[in-house]
Amino acid sequence: MISEKANQIGESPTFKVAAKAKAMKAEGIDVVDLSLGEPDFPTPENVKAAGIKAIQENFTKYTESGGMPALKKVIAARIKEDYGLAYGPKEIIVSAGAKSTLFHVIQALVNEDEEVIIPAPFWVTYPHLVTLAKGKSVIVPTREENGFVLTAEELKAHISPATKALLLNSPSNPTGATYSRAQLEALADVLRKEDIYIITDDIYNKLVFDGFPYVSIVQLGEEIRKKTIIVNGVSKSYSMTGWRIGYACGPADVINGMDKIQSHTTSNPTSISQKATIEALSGPQFELSRMVAEFQRRRNYCLMKLQSAPRLSCFKSQGAFYLFPNVRAYYDMEFNGSPIRNSYGLAYYLLKEAQVALVPGDAFGADDHIRLSYATSMENLEKGMDRIVAALARLKPARKGKRVALSNAVTRVRKPVPVEAAVTEKVRDGLVEEVRAHLTPDTSFEWNANINGVVVQLRTNVPHLNDFWMENWYPAQLDADLEPHGILYAVDGIPGREPRAFYNTETKTGILVNCDTYGPLRGLALGLVADVSERLFGVHTVRGMAAEIGGQGLILVGPAGTRKTELFFELLRDPKFRFQSNDVVFVRYSGNAALADTVERKAYIPTNSVESLPRLAGLFDRSKCENVVVRKEDCANAECLRQDDCRLDRGSPFCYKASKDAQAMLDPAWLGGPSAFVKRSPLRWIFLLRNDAISPSAVQAPVEDALRILAAGEMPGMTRSAAAGPPPPFFNPHLLVRTEERLALQKSYFQRLLNSATVYLFNSGAAGAEKIKEIVGAS
Ligand code: PMP
Repeated sequence: MISEKANQIGESPTFKVAAKAKAMKAEGIDVVDLSLGEPDFPTPENVKAAGIKAIQENFTKYTESGGMPALKKVIAARIKEDYGLAYGPKEIIVSAGAKSTLFHVIQALVNEDEEVIIPAPFWVTYPHLVTLAKGKSVIVPTREENGFVLTAEELKAHISPATKALLLNSPSNPTGATYSRAQLEALADVLRKEDIYIITDDIYNKLVFDGFPYVSIVQLGEEIRKKTIIVNGVSKSYSMTGWRIGYACGPADVINGMDKIQSHTTSNPTSISQKATIEALSGPQFELSRMVAEFQRRRNYCLMKLQSAPRLSCFKSQGAFYLFPNVRAYYDMEFNGSPIRNSYGLAYYLLKEAQVALVPGDAFGADDHIRLSYATSMENLEKGMDRIVAALARLKPARKGKRVALSNAVTRVRKPVPVEAAVTEKVRDGLVEEVRAHLTPDTSFEWNANINGVVVQLRTNVPHLNDFWMENWYPAQLDADLEPHGILYAVDGIPGREPRAFYNTETKTGILVNCDTYGPLRGLALGLVADVSERLFGVHTVRGMAAEIGGQGLILVGPAGTRKTELFFELLRDPKFRFQSNDVVFVRYSGNAALADTVERKAYIPTNSVESLPRLAGLFDRSKCENVVVRKEDCANAECLRQDDCRLDRGSPFCYKASKDAQAMLDPAWLGGPSAFVKRSPLRWIFLLRNDAISPSAVQAPVEDALRILAAGEMPGMTRSAAAGPPPPFFNPHLLVRTEERLALQKSYFQRLLNSATVYLFNSGAAGAEKIKEIVGAS
């Protein structure tokens, strides 16, 4: 299992888009890639020559971890010339790219839970760097009408005692917005009064247009300079992205902290690249002015072309090489019936339908936008811009623009919870005392469910469990002087305990500890009710998937790996079949007939059932859900990943088939009203499922054989993983009391059932739902 932070961190979206575009090109598709964050010019010849010379002179060993003194000197000279500020060698560090510099600044400054203010739209990497330092990003949205510039008021409103730093980026990736002196002065007025560091990422400082008078905040007086760290590098200004050189200038103690950390991460930046950088920063700078002039020409061209898309508007950038058009007006438009919902959807549409690669604005904290990089040839830009404009014009207003807001609870416990089903009354009393201490009146919930006539009271401190509990069952009225038949405690936050369930049959008490997921609670409830019902009412549970046809019931019973779900939903696709339960029925006997009852108001159903019955998706949209996946990083569906066919990539806000842990509370009436759903049926057919290569597709089984298989809970000829523990008798993991006496009682119930119904051994490896239909007379 990878660490929480590795799991939390999203892959860099720019790299992801670039990889997609590359893969499409490999398939022979003519993709125009406008996603790249690097100049398309070659590294200047004099710089390349300096690198080659370094290799020839065997300058290929470690250098000082924080960079060569000779390079620091050149950096100092560059800063002196550009900013008019003097920095000594202890105030300068060189790293393997500005990204690495930023990583080390944040590591050196930020303690756990300290805050870094990041104006949005922001460069995608910033918040992740803060997360890696266990700090908190305080994202402050800037306004497009303010030119995407942070105002003094916005800054002031977000400073707290926990604020450690402000992270500025001018010119900005992705907007190209560049702060004027007056705008920076307004921020400096606030910052002078605060004990806050300023990190200014000036990596695009040389790429400004229209003679914009560039100023960095560090230039606004000694008070500001004392708490500012300048970050820069050669990637953008000298077309040296692959050389990996970045640097920082700032207070000596901060630089020293960064150096210590860097000495354990990358050590020194590449020796050869350092030599090349000396040449880049100190050699002739005319390539740079040529590059700036070319970028300005391209920016003007792209802006002009974007104007021909009627619903789009675009901020006129003053620097860098990106445009960040506002594409909001295209959301809820559609192409061939699929709506565009957000920047991911639009980027996906433009990639697939226009073969142009762009980066969704959401990655930069601005979902109404999309990022276009013009760091590519004019020829590519002409082709790309024409395609974008034409593809946007093909979008039609959506017929049904309704957005789905998913009701989704995300829980912590995802593994099966072990059950100790035979605890003594003494242990029970101890546990109840322990959990009760955590059920304070203002944090606990109590609700009585009527499950097959058995009144079960839930006491919990987990709002989600209470919510699903009330959704799942019918309510039970309780008179003041009447006790429930059983009580379930579901209590989270008990120190020193693993998630676990306990049951005591004498007192009909279930205790679920430190589990916030609904499945184990539901299982405990069904087990308690089975325990009471077997004894008191002569009713027993049958675990399986039940449906009805022509007034008669059938149930599919069997172990995992027998395609139960697929067969079940394949049957339900035929309107002659009615849904009864996807998990369990309670069976009572009336004369010779076995009557199967569904006792749940709503079905707790894995959302990946949509793979077998796609129309469930529309019903889950309206249901309460648990653990539906909303980020691609959490997807566990190997098949979609293999096919590179991801709904989340296409802009869908969630995916039902991405994880086996996702469940919905489905109202079965929504399947199509009374004609599609039944609560009681006389149980006529039992299909005991197996899946092997040799057995016949379906044979009627003698009662004795069927009973033996059921009692063992194992299908002869099918292997079970040892890790899954002993097989549950009657294929029913909900059975809690498994004493000899009770298993004998179960057996007698099942004997009665097998005598009143017809039992088939059904090999799902040899036949499908058609065969079942044939047997029940539905084909
Ligand atoms: N800061 C910003 C704003 C950037 O856009 C980039 C590159 N995309 C970097 C820093 C990092 O540049 P590098 O690591 O290549 O020096």
